[in-house]
Amino acid sequence: MTATPVLRTEHLSRRFGGLNAVSDVSLSIPEGETVGVIGPNGAGKSTLINLVTGHLKPSSGRVLIDGRDLTGARPWVITHAGVARTFQIVKPFRGMTVRENVAIGILYGPHGVRRMSHAREQATRVLEETNLADLAERAPGELSVADARRLEFAKALALRPRLLLLDEVMAGLRHREIESSLELIRTLKTRGITIVVVEHVMRAILAVSDRVVVLHHGKVLTEGRPRDVLSDPQVVEAYLGH
Ligand code: ADP
Ligand code: MG
Repeated sequence: MTATPVLRTEHLSRRFGGLNAVSDVSLSIPEGETVGVIGPNGAGKSTLINLVTGHLKPSSGRVLIDGRDLTGARPWVITHAGVARTFQIVKPFRGMTVRENVAIGILYGPHGVRRMSHAREQATRVLEETNLADLAERAPGELSVADARRLEFAKALALRPRLLLLDEVMAGLRHREIESSLELIRTLKTRGITIVVVEHVMRAILAVSDRVVVLHHGKVLTEGRPRDVLSDPQVVEAYLGH
């Protein structure tokens, strides 16, 4: 018997007026797999993440987390099912420090750590692994692009997810910063976290993905091993033709 996938989408679709932003997407992601999702701008990548995490409701189709039908469930229900995400447009809590942004997930997330000393310890650990320890007392608005993206990552990790969806966490980063994000993703992989990496940085996709799914006009154009997919003429055409 095969294990229940951590994430399964069945014929998932979302329309905006006459536009099929996500169209008939069926994916199955087993525990521990890292799946890269690529596609030109407007392909439906962020919409797909929004549908999985309850930030948008599907027009049709289903979302199953660990086999549980959570189609159209609210974001906090999905969070409590062990799913965390980052936002392409960063969304820190503005009135709080970097440390408080992380602590809130530790205190009120699915693992609800009640002892302040434990919460503090965990926040410190998350800040260290995301290289934010030196910036812990800053306001999010003072952070550089790279650090603001790292804070998105840290907020997601504070929830101790089993499934993590990353929406272009490397966009606009320099080589060294990309390397440190990749290092972090590799660490999370070794912990067995299931990861969906939406990314434009192809090098990053090649470096961490076990499998790559290509979206184009909301549909799955192709999927397979990273090297095969990135050299597929259809995929090259989808990018160049855009
Ligand atoms: P990607 O993340 O791959 O660049 P998106 O998922 O953001 O693409 O968008 C897919 C398509 O859906 C685009 O044409 C976009 O303009 C449209 N879209 C996304 N969100 C909305 C929305 N809330 N209302 C209307 N159209 C939207
Ligand atoms: Mg997007």
